[in-house]
Amino acid sequence: MAYDYIIVGGGAAGCVLANRLSVDASIRVLLLEAGGGDGNPLFSMPAGFAKMTKGVASWGWSTVPQKHLGGRVIWYTQAKVIGGGSSINAQLYTRGNRKDYDSWASEAGCEGWSYREVLPYFIRSEDNQRLVNAYHGYGGPLGVSYPVNPPPISHAFLRAAQEAGIPFNFDFNGATQDGIGHYQLSTRNAQRSSTSSAFLKPARGRPNLTVRLNAQTLKIDVEKGRAIGVTIANGAGLETLRAEREVIVSCGAIGSPRLLQLSGIGPADALKAAGVPVVHDLPGVGANLQDHLDLYAISECTGDHTYDRVAQPHRTVWAGLQYLLFKTGPVSSTLFETGGFWYADKNARSPDIQFHLGLGSGIEAGVAQMKNPGVTLNSAFLRPRSRGTVRLASADPNAAPLIDPNYWEDPYDRQCALKGLRLAREILRQPALKPFVLAERLPGDDLETDEQLAEYAYRSCKTDHHPVGTCAMGTGPLSVVTPDLKLRGLEGLRVVDASVMPFVPSCNTNAPTIMVAEKASDLILGKAALEPAAV
Ligand SMILES: Cc1cc2nc3c(=O)[nH]c(=O)nc-3n(C[C@H](O)[C@H](O)[C@H](O)COP(=O)(O)OP(=O)(O)OC[C@H]3O[C@@H](n4cnc5c(N)ncnc54)[C@H](O)[C@@H]3O)c2cc1C
Repeated sequence: MAYDYIIVGGGAAGCVLANRLSVDASIRVLLLEAGGGDGNPLFSMPAGFAKMTKGVASWGWSTVPQKHLGGRVIWYTQAKVIGGGSSINAQLYTRGNRKDYDSWASEAGCEGWSYREVLPYFIRSEDNQRLVNAYHGYGGPLGVSYPVNPPPISHAFLRAAQEAGIPFNFDFNGATQDGIGHYQLSTRNAQRSSTSSAFLKPARGRPNLTVRLNAQTLKIDVEKGRAIGVTIANGAGLETLRAEREVIVSCGAIGSPRLLQLSGIGPADALKAAGVPVVHDLPGVGANLQDHLDLYAISECTGDHTYDRVAQPHRTVWAGLQYLLFKTGPVSSTLFETGGFWYADKNARSPDIQFHLGLGSGIEAGVAQMKNPGVTLNSAFLRPRSRGTVRLASADPNAAPLIDPNYWEDPYDRQCALKGLRLAREILRQPALKPFVLAERLPGDDLETDEQLAEYAYRSCKTDHHPVGTCAMGTGPLSVVTPDLKLRGLEGLRVVDASVMPFVPSCNTNAPTIMVAEKASDLILGKAALEPAAV
């Protein structure tokens, strides 16, 4: 059977594309996903996220030892399930700063991707529970809501941040990003709104859309300079599938450069080193990796103010009932639903630090759990100058890739990250949190100098799960795709996912990825771009 479009990777971007491209009944679309389905209720419960960073529905990869983090190897969750990251993430719905997209256009040469041009695509996908204005809309597929019932410690955190000099902001995705507040979440009626549930599910019945799960693509097949289809592992063996118009690679910022390189598309020297025959020498594939690194402070609480004790069996039962009957309580929380954006570098063009208040300790993989209830405050530096790589360890399509975010190679990143950690500690020490917080346990009051905090960071830091840039769009020598997302130098091949972002936006990356896929669908179908926003 031949298809018009084969979308490889049913993640955040892939599910959006599957919906938008199959609207026209005459277009035959195949979506291939290496992972399985998202039927387990943990995927739809907002708090199910906590299980996900610990290995469920993920590829099980880690970074290579990080040279500038004392050789640390960091667990690196990447989704392997329909909906991809949007099915396992913390559901924070943030778009970043308008200057992020303006820099894509002005610095990377991505014509058509300035803020005013991309804002209509954010709005097109949005079904906002509360907001309708120049920045927001409703009626789109993706549910966007405010947290259902933040506990009192979240409100105290908002007051504490204001005591530390950070203003309150009701809408980080509106006119101003600066400030502290509750995040908007990709949830609807206290359930996760992944791109699988929001975009793919409503399109599943279309006869022109085929979805295949547990179908890992091993290679893109190229003939005479054109991508003609893919080879997949279908459980029983190998199978080749043909795309009459295009193969669209949407395997994510690690998976896409991995698949391209397995197909012989990438820097010739790196391909040869891995034992892969070179099909198309393209130096930028797998280069330019950018990610947000998280540092955190954890304090012990004066009482049961967060959700740490919900793991006790009787509390789990009650939390389950509360959720089933009323759609409230700990299970309805994404556990990171409050935070904001502020400055490490006072001269930065826009906020360069993001905070996430974690309603517990040990929520994510590798993060210390306190004996008594704890509260976590993550801080991530948002515009790293360090650049890393994704390379192949070998030509074996089942081997884990070599993921090297190269965190802190640039000393500026380290300097700003440590300032962010200091800001987080300062907020947790404010009077408004005194009734809730007993004492800082990590890093711990005795650690004060930059050297001590850096040592602490080496031991404890984690990824914020925002890799981008490894198939960057633009016009420079390391660009992999053109601003219409066509792979340079081959016909019939596009990349559409977080990997095409030339610079990481100053926020979580799910909403920006969905925007990329929305805009890509118009580019692929040859539709006129939406009218630029008037803000
Ligand atoms: C644990 C975690 C928490 C996060 N929290 C947030 C958050 O709260 N808010 C936010 O905005 N962002 C968050 N993110 C980031 C966000 O989810 C990602 O930026 C987004 O999912 C990227 O979308 P994508 O389409 O580029 O890739 P993905 O969503 O990763 O999709 C890629 C898909 O391709 C599939 N695939 C890969 N290789 C192959 C192959 N060879 N053959 C077939 N299929 C393949 C994968 O299995 C996967 O399903 C988080 C991410 C993670 C992992």
